[in-house]
Parts: sequence; C-alpha cells; structure tokens
Amino acid sequence: MPHERRFIPLSDAREPFYVGVDLGGTNIKLGVVDDAGQSLAWRSIPTDPERGPEDGARRMGEAVRAIVAEAKLTPEQIVRVGLGSPGTMDIPAGLLIQPHNLPGWFNFPIRERVAHHCGLPVTFSNDANAAAYGEFWVGSGRDFHSMVLFTLGTGVGCGIIIGDLLIDGENSHGGECGHIIIDYNDTARRCACGQLGHLEAYASANAVIGRTEELLAAGQASSLRNRMEAGQELTPLLVAEEAERGDELALRIVLKTARYVGIGAVTLMHTIDPNGVVLGGAMTFGGHESPLGRQFLEEVRQTVRQRAFPILAERIVIDFATLGADAGYIGAAGAARLEQRRTK
Ligand SMILES: [Zn+2]
Repeated sequence: MPHERRFIPLSDAREPFYVGVDLGGTNIKLGVVDDAGQSLAWRSIPTDPERGPEDGARRMGEAVRAIVAEAKLTPEQIVRVGLGSPGTMDIPAGLLIQPHNLPGWFNFPIRERVAHHCGLPVTFSNDANAAAYGEFWVGSGRDFHSMVLFTLGTGVGCGIIIGDLLIDGENSHGGECGHIIIDYNDTARRCACGQLGHLEAYASANAVIGRTEELLAAGQASSLRNRMEAGQELTPLLVAEEAERGDELALRIVLKTARYVGIGAVTLMHTIDPNGVVLGGAMTFGGHESPLGRQFLEEVRQTVRQRAFPILAERIVIDFATLGADAGYIGAAGAARLEQRRTK
C-alpha cells in the first residue's frame, strides 16, 4: 500500500524527543520522533549483516547522531532511543540470540552496544511488536485500547498490544501469531520455522507462491502460465496482477489467502478479544486503493463473521495498517517513550 512519509517542522514538534531504530535483515530504518509520534527526520542505511554485529551497532550509533543533527536537535534533547529487532532475542537481557535474517549476530548484547555507540539509553523491542505499537500509537489502531497487527510479507509477523503493553511474553516469544496452528493434520503445510500447519505456511508471500505452483502443476488453467512462460517470475504481485485482470485461479488464491488470515484473526479474537485486527505488510494487495485489496479485506471480514462469536464479529474493527514500513521505527520510539514514562 503506498504510504506517504510525512515530516513535521521542529516548530510543530512536542518535546521530549526519541529516536526509533528498526533493524532489519536488509536495511536499518531510523527516525526522530516527537512525544506525539510525529516524525521530524528519517533515513535508511544498509544492514550489511556480514560486517558483523559490533560494526552494525557502531553504524547504528553514528546514524542516530546524524539523524538527530538532521532534525536540528542536539543529542541532549533526545531522552531515549528505541531499537526494534528481529528475534530470536532476550528482551530483558538486551540480547540478540539467533536472529535468522542476521546470520552471525548470535548472542550479541545489542542494547548495550548501540547505547555505547550513540551515548543514549536504549529500549529494546521485538520488531513485530514495535510495528504493532506504532500502528496502535499513531496509525490505524490509534483509537483502540487493544489490537493485533498481522504483517503479511515474506513471512507472517504479528504483534499484540493491550493498553500500553507490548506482549513480549516471559521468554521474548509473545505475539508470534504467524505460528498459530490453523491445520493440525500430519499432512499440513510445513512452516519456515520447521513446524507443521502454522498460519505463515498458508498466508505468507512464500506460501502464496508455493500454493500457486502446486495448482499450476496440477494443470489448472490460468493466465499466470502465459506470464511465466514469457519469463516473469512467480510472485504475489504477479498473482495479484492476473487476479485484477480477471484470472479466476489467481483470484481464488488471493481470496483463499484472505480466508487463512481471517481464521488466524478469529483465533486471536477468541484469545484476547481486541478492539481491532490490523493488516499490514507488502502483501495486502494494494489495500484500500485497489479493488483487489478491498476484496481481500472483505473476505477476511466475511471469514470472521462466519467463524467468530457473533458479538465479537459485530464489534471488531478489521482494517489495513496506515504507517507502511514506518511502523517499525515509530513504534520502537514509542516503546522508548513508554519506558521513559515508566522510569521517570
Ligand atoms: Zn511456524
């Protein structure tokens, strides 16, 4: 979904200020965020994970200082830095344990090392929970008291926010709802985590590609075959394009994906009864801007109406996320703000 990045001038900002850092396998996004969740400056640097975690922490520290200067602030005006990173991790200990998209960054005290290099205290969060907090604070969940964010991308990320609490869990594995079981059979699809029948094995971009390949291999008619014979790579975007052009198989694949997401949403609704379920990530089929995106959302809602307790189905708000790829750094800054307010 196209998301326009908006910055406010310093004169419109509300003190105190935070820096949010979203550490990903490819890029590190960071921005200066004010007390109301508004961004003053933003940048992205390559992660280059092969350079190792200490080098990464050093470059994050440098980037924090550079972005603060770009926002025309001094380091003294930043009260805390929020760092969101992929798991596995130990949040209370500030440790990366074995993040699978940061090979070699194992058992690394990232919170302490980034704090050392930027000279500011750091609040450490899981990246999916940070993104959920971003949407909760200033995105499509800003009117909610509790919400679930599903991020539909290469995998299925998830974050749960209740009140102002990010659900990290006792072992920093809370909110891993991409791995809720939606098929208990021994014949269920295998997830990237190695287990069977998880939501991610059905509703991620990789799952959409795998399901499409199987249907094509079974001989089902589809204009996708022509596109692939013309040299196009099979991606969720290609499936979406053909669905929009009226290809029945492609549309069926998109709507089936929505049903899986809806089933996952029902499980979360019956677990925590949130105000809203928010859908973000690259695989939202164009969001509200596109007829296919709207059809996808309606199918998720329809699944929820069919499968959830009626009172919950009636009251739940299911909608697309609004912060795009900025949710992570904004939410990481928001988590820093929460810790600051708690310890003040
Ligand atoms: Zn899994």
